[in-house]
Amino acid sequence: MSAAVSAARRLGRARGAAGASQVPSTAGIPRRSRRRKSVTIAYESGQGDGAEQGATEPQRPRWEPRDWQQQLERIREMRRNRDAPVDEMGVQKCYDSSAPPQVMRYQVLLSLMLSSQTKDQVTSAAMLRLREHGLTVDSILQMDDATLGQIIYPVGFWRNKVKYIKQTTAILKQKYGGDIPRTVEELVQLPGVGPKMAHLAMNIAWDSVSGIAVDTHVHRITNRLKWVKKETRYPEETRVALEDWLPRDLWREINWLLVGFGQQTCLPVNPRCKECLNQDICPAAKRP
Ligand code: SF4
Repeated sequence: MSAAVSAARRLGRARGAAGASQVPSTAGIPRRSRRRKSVTIAYESGQGDGAEQGATEPQRPRWEPRDWQQQLERIREMRRNRDAPVDEMGVQKCYDSSAPPQVMRYQVLLSLMLSSQTKDQVTSAAMLRLREHGLTVDSILQMDDATLGQIIYPVGFWRNKVKYIKQTTAILKQKYGGDIPRTVEELVQLPGVGPKMAHLAMNIAWDSVSGIAVDTHVHRITNRLKWVKKETRYPEETRVALEDWLPRDLWREINWLLVGFGQQTCLPVNPRCKECLNQDICPAAKRP
C-alpha cells in the first residue's frame, strides 16, 4: 500500500464509518456492478428476448478499448520507480500529516486549489510557506489578501486564487464547522473548486473514490491511447467516457499513474515515444 493511500485512509477514518453512507449519490452508484449485472443477463440468457428475464431493453456487450490492459500494465512498469514530480511533490505530500484530521483535510483542499495550472514544485513550495504561518481555516481568515498573495506567489492565477481561497474558507467556517464537505456536489459549489479537485479531495481527504480525477495529463493520454470511444474535447467529457468502461477499482490509481506518465514520458509536446514501452501498441505513437 502506498504512503499516499495509507495517509488517505487515516484521514478518511478519522471521521468514522458514517462516511460510507454519506458518499454522494453519483459517487456511490456502483456503475460497474450494475453494468456487469446487465451484461450477465444478456450473455447468459442466450435464447430469451429479455422480456422473460424482466429486462426492459436488449443489452449490448460492454465497449472497452483495444489493448488497454496491456497498455496499463506497461505504464505501471514505466511508473515503477515512482519518481515523477507528482510522486514527490503532489498534493498527497503537501499537507501536514501530524495535524488534526480536519486541518489535514483543509490543507488537502487548499493544495488542490493552488495546484490548478501550476507545476507540482511551485504548489509544494507555496504550501510549505503557508504551513510556516500555521495553515488552518482561522489563520487564513485572519490573514489579509496582500499577505496571502505574497505567500502563494507565483502559483498560476494567484490573484484569483487569493479571492477563491478566502471565499471558500469563509464558507467552510460558516457552513461546515471548519471542515471540508464530504460530497462532490458540495465541493464543486465552493469557489475555485472544480470536478477534478473535488474527486481528488474525496480520494485523498476522505479516502472515498467518487469518480476519476481527470486533469490535462489524463485527458491527453487517454485520448492518445484511444481509451475514449470518440475523441473528447474537455476533461469532464473524458471523465464520463472513462467511467463508462474503466473498472471502478482502477479509478483511484489511474490519476497518479497517468499524471506521472505524462510528466515523464507521454509529454504534451514531443512525447518520448522511442522510450515508451507502449510504442508498438499505441495509436498515437510517433514512429521513425
Ligand atoms: S507511444 Fe508515445 S504517444 Fe503513445 S503512450 Fe507512449 S509516449 Fe504517449
